Amino acid sequence: MSLTNGHDQIASGAVVEANAAVLELSGVSAGYGRTTVLREVDLAVRPGSVVALLGPNGAGKTTLLRVAAGLLTPSAGRVTIGAEDVTRRPPSQRARQGLCLIPEGRGIFPNLSVRENLILQLPAWKQEQSFEPALAAFPVLRERLGQTAGSMSGGQQQMLALSRCFLSDPKVVLLDEVSMGLAPRIIDEIFEALLELSRRGVALLLVEQYVNRALQVADHVYLLGRGCVTFSGRPTDLDESELMRRYIGGDELLGSATK
Ligand code: ATP
Repeated sequence: MSLTNGHDQIASGAVVEANAAVLELSGVSAGYGRTTVLREVDLAVRPGSVVALLGPNGAGKTTLLRVAAGLLTPSAGRVTIGAEDVTRRPPSQRARQGLCLIPEGRGIFPNLSVRENLILQLPAWKQEQSFEPALAAFPVLRERLGQTAGSMSGGQQQMLALSRCFLSDPKVVLLDEVSMGLAPRIIDEIFEALLELSRRGVALLLVEQYVNRALQVADHVYLLGRGCVTFSGRPTDLDESELMRRYIGGDELLGSATK
């Protein structure tokens, strides 16, 4: 592969942008039945970057993650991973292409052991079938392999849910409210593990209720209001009053901004 003028010449002869977004939504509209939630949304996540997606309740953040992951088909627009159009591809194919969604609400099997949960998280397409990388990221899970997942603390259950992104070699991880309901010390631990993933070159798209925390770690921030992007830029270009103005129901933000 040769690199010329910011473009990679790949073996097939096709030329792709070297800095192509690892995930991109272009002109995406989507909703449920006759209700439109997202309206012509443009969003790009660059390789290795940390992008915060913020906005008030009901703005459409979870819906955007669902469209990106292939759980909801948009009524208009395009989703690409790398330079490939995946708009019509199912979630399983997008996962193979490097997208990992950590949905809100943990998504683990509470009645199975930690070990069984980890085995189920191992991607079928990977030759290396070890859950060691997840145990390295969250050592507390090593002591609890035989324990029923649902009997662990909320923080440990979230670490188990997050293990998935340490096992599938993703290019981009979409995280929906991973800090929800957790103590600050546990959130610190979880963010540290995620930032380690980021340091290894994995891009993160964070939907986060603790706005300050998200702004501290993000390279880029999108604000969503009623399904439209109302701001896209560097966190330093947003001050608190600007955030307040763009949030509907500012009380919620005030509460979380200080955490
Ligand atoms: P929150 O922070 O409250 O989760 P959000 O920004 O993630 O908010 P979404 O969950 O994407 O927002 O919801 C956007 C809108 O879509 C809301 O009005 C919600 O009621 C509606 N909605 C979400 N899921 C569905 C669904 N499965 N069927 C119908 N409407 C839905």
